[in-house]
Amino acid sequence: MKILTCLTTALTVLWSLPSGSAAPASTDQPWFGRALVGMEIGPTGAQFGNSDSNDVRYCTRFDGREIVRHAVAAHSEYLVLWVRDGDYAYYDSKLLPKAPGLGTRDPLREAMDEARPHHLPIIAYCVVQQGGHFLKAHPEWEMRGADGQPIGRFCYNSGYLDAMKAIVAEQLAYGLAGFHIDMLDQGFGPPYGCWCDTCRAQFEQEFGHPMPKGATWDDAWDQMLEFRYATSERFEKALYAHIKSISPRATVDYNYHGNPPFSFELGQRPVQHAGNSDFVTGETGVWGFSALTVGLNAEFYRAAVPHQRVQVAMQRGVRMYHDQTTRPLNDIRWELLTLLAHGSFVTVVDKTGFDGWLDPLTYERIGAAFEEAREKRGHFGQTPVQDVGLYYSSRSRDWVGREKPANYFQSFQGAHKATVYEHIPYGVVLEENATLATLQRFPILMLPNVGILSEKEVALFRRYVEEGGKLLVTGQSGLFDRTGQPLAESALSEFIGANAKGRLESVDNWVTLSGSGPALSRLSADIRTNWPFLVKGPAVVYEPTTATPLGKLLKPHRTTRQQEGKEGTDWPMSADAPVGPAMLLHTVGRGTVLTFATSPDFATASEHHIVEARRLLRNAVRLLNPTPRVEITAPAHVETVVTDDAASRTLRIHLLGYNSPPQTTPPKDRPFVLPMPIEDAPMYRVVIESNHPLKRAEAGNKSTMLKRRGQRVKATVNDVHEVVVLRY
Ligand SMILES: [Zn+2]
Repeated sequence: MKILTCLTTALTVLWSLPSGSAAPASTDQPWFGRALVGMEIGPTGAQFGNSDSNDVRYCTRFDGREIVRHAVAAHSEYLVLWVRDGDYAYYDSKLLPKAPGLGTRDPLREAMDEARPHHLPIIAYCVVQQGGHFLKAHPEWEMRGADGQPIGRFCYNSGYLDAMKAIVAEQLAYGLAGFHIDMLDQGFGPPYGCWCDTCRAQFEQEFGHPMPKGATWDDAWDQMLEFRYATSERFEKALYAHIKSISPRATVDYNYHGNPPFSFELGQRPVQHAGNSDFVTGETGVWGFSALTVGLNAEFYRAAVPHQRVQVAMQRGVRMYHDQTTRPLNDIRWELLTLLAHGSFVTVVDKTGFDGWLDPLTYERIGAAFEEAREKRGHFGQTPVQDVGLYYSSRSRDWVGREKPANYFQSFQGAHKATVYEHIPYGVVLEENATLATLQRFPILMLPNVGILSEKEVALFRRYVEEGGKLLVTGQSGLFDRTGQPLAESALSEFIGANAKGRLESVDNWVTLSGSGPALSRLSADIRTNWPFLVKGPAVVYEPTTATPLGKLLKPHRTTRQQEGKEGTDWPMSADAPVGPAMLLHTVGRGTVLTFATSPDFATASEHHIVEARRLLRNAVRLLNPTPRVEITAPAHVETVVTDDAASRTLRIHLLGYNSPPQTTPPKDRPFVLPMPIEDAPMYRVVIESNHPLKRAEAGNKSTMLKRRGQRVKATVNDVHEVVVLRY
């Protein structure tokens, strides 16, 4: 009872930090400087392109004034208004046809007029890639596949750049606060581009020989990938410079596709293409990225542009954009508050009805979620406290993953899944921009099956470890050359303290924890010893030189028919004989390297995941970093994000309770299901242990029960989001 009384007092303190009532008042700071929540609003009916340009029902009610009023009422701090897609302009354009139902109306003009008294920044949503009336009218700008056939996209080396410059210029004349430019991709799969005459000539001039005849995965294809990356980068930089030359204050952000599940086909490398605008914008959503990767997307974007703010877009629909459904409030809150806890600002996308109708229930729910976010503003944006850096290699993505990048992503995503389920705060490290300072932000650097490692990367790891860093290596890291060909010896052998005798062909590999000693005892916490368990994923047979071997790696049995190649090996088979150590522990300089001969990360993201495989990773992290800043015990369905505000000596532990009810079988692709949206707030217990003395512990919600004893805090929470604030 007493705790509850204290909490009521705390509530008023905690949830009433300054939230502001309109757009940022400062004139020096750009609109996105302290933006927290905003909306993107666009029409539904031409998103697939080639719509009926005589259908005057389309967008009759798509009204800029109404859109602004709805966004303002929903506590939106900025509005991204749809002004151009592959078919139409949604304003009076001299260059593009106007959406048929608009008549003489100009929604962009309406929105600008209505937004002015509210000081609401208007950002134009403008696509680059979309098949439709404009591409049809300009076949000379169309991308060509390797066979010379048009493939339904614009070529970035064509005259399309000049067309885009003219289009953004006429939009800028409205006095926009900025642009959100979408679909800067080169396609989301085969056929790849571009083999048009312009691109062929440009490639030949640059490399002195013709383009490869397709995805040949040789040196010529390596040059082709560089050419494609450079093409996208040139286009982005040229468009950015053009906009700034007309209106230096107008902001530019490009929708980013450098993160998993996207790969080379898009023409974006994680860092090379993230920083070409004023801030990066990426998407998230269960529809394409899973419920778990909401936070990972935000962290990935942050790692790609550590010098910039990050915007993440989510949608109001249950399934996807344009689907005309509305998620329950708790489902919207969970995603929104997860993104905010990870330090990004958030755009919620609403797609109107066919005629431009705005769904009132949608705006009620978004309004409630935005109001809460703004009340909690003071709890977002502090410095993250992260124990493990998850290393991501775009070279491995391209050349180990090749046209099946999911194989590479699985270990990275499994490592992420393990850290979230085990409440180990993580961050992302990208090979393109990693420096010693980047690595040293993390007590532990994890290499999840990073197949390709250059000499430069290995030298960086050496300094990190020698100066006291802890390296956690899994799977077949370092065992491939720069074009993805297997190496006889790992690039990391010296660190690992063992020679690689060979890679197992199987993925249904097994581990037994046997032996004694303090390291093995820590690694066996909550795992039965002398018991073989499946750790599905790539594995290596190591022969220790200077490392201490721990546990055993066992190969799987193979039936006679499997040996004869008459039966597949997709389904795991039971454990056969030991073939090498399961783990290797090695001291290097002042640091430590712990190597898994298996892939507990890959296993964690696989369909044959067992909890023990994930615990191996947790135990490894605890062995390498026994006293983290905070240690959190909570159920696996609760995500935790830890931040520190050193100036006010305040740690914040965001708790995000995911609570999806069971789902039934889908009409196709059984058993693969999308989770149900969250309806009810979950109830759960959390224990937080600080390695510093604490002065005070508080929670934001009236319903949270909180108890502190010394450096240990116990909380019982009944909400999708809570922040436990620890003053030290
Ligand atoms: Zn081309």
